[in-house]
Amino acid sequence: EREDLPEIATPEGLLPLLPKRPLTAHKGSVGRVGVLGGYRGEGLRYAGAPVLSALGAYRMGAGLVHLVAPEGSPLEPLEAVFHPVQVPALPSMRVEALAVGMGGGPWGREWALKALEARLPTVLDADALHLEVLEAYRKAGVPTVLTPHAGEAGRLLGMSPEEVAKDPLRAAQTLAERTGLTVVLKGNPTVVAQGSRLSVNPTGNPALATGGTGDVLSGVIAALLAAGLSPFDAARLGVYLHGLAGDLLAQERDVGLLAREVAEALPKARRALS
Ligand code: AMP
Ligand code: MG
Repeated sequence: EREDLPEIATPEGLLPLLPKRPLTAHKGSVGRVGVLGGYRGEGLRYAGAPVLSALGAYRMGAGLVHLVAPEGSPLEPLEAVFHPVQVPALPSMRVEALAVGMGGGPWGREWALKALEARLPTVLDADALHLEVLEAYRKAGVPTVLTPHAGEAGRLLGMSPEEVAKDPLRAAQTLAERTGLTVVLKGNPTVVAQGSRLSVNPTGNPALATGGTGDVLSGVIAALLAAGLSPFDAARLGVYLHGLAGDLLAQERDVGLLAREVAEALPKARRALS
């Protein structure tokens, strides 16, 4: 039984973690992110998922985003460096962090194992979330943040999504203990767990309950990892700003948000924190 009290994230506590943007910044100096995701085989496709992750990374301040997606992927954000590949592939690119798995479908597992060859701080989301993948990342000692929602966390823990949602603090901490990695358990509230550390996020609202917002979050956290934050700090600052972006938008419209708008609101959320 844990006795550590969870922290509630506060703007005062998070402000010092915000990556600085010095006057001499250039796109190679403020953090570069590689996003690996998407699927082109039979079955369901979430072609926009890696694109939303790339947008989240750019809107969080990444200097350059490399988008690695299956050849023939229909969407290419203009600002990203696009790498069409045969999955699983890890092209050579100069980046400081990765986000892996969004929209990867049945390719997510193999792709995450391939991405581990880069030995870079990594966000594992969605289709990258498999126990053997997490075990491989732990063994490699790679700084890793996993970002499951209650359904994905339940699958990893052998619990129902409802059981996870009933006690998210315990579920997040159990998953962090079992995997040895940093866990972002998304929902209301979102909880960040790492070892005995636990942080409960106060921002966010049900307007975020719409397709693609989680993909945006993966890019946000990857951008903060690329800027040099530790997994725990990148996770708690990222979920706070992502939720705050949703709160700023909900002041005007509390239903009908698009995930891309949450990405667009991130710079304003960042401003509001500082
Ligand atoms: P995903 O399910 O992967 O698309 O992620 C959904 C995102 O929206 C996560 O960041 C959740 O924390 C957030 N979200 C969804 N529903 C709510 C809610 N009712 N309250 C606050 N945040 C939510
Ligand atoms: Mg998701």
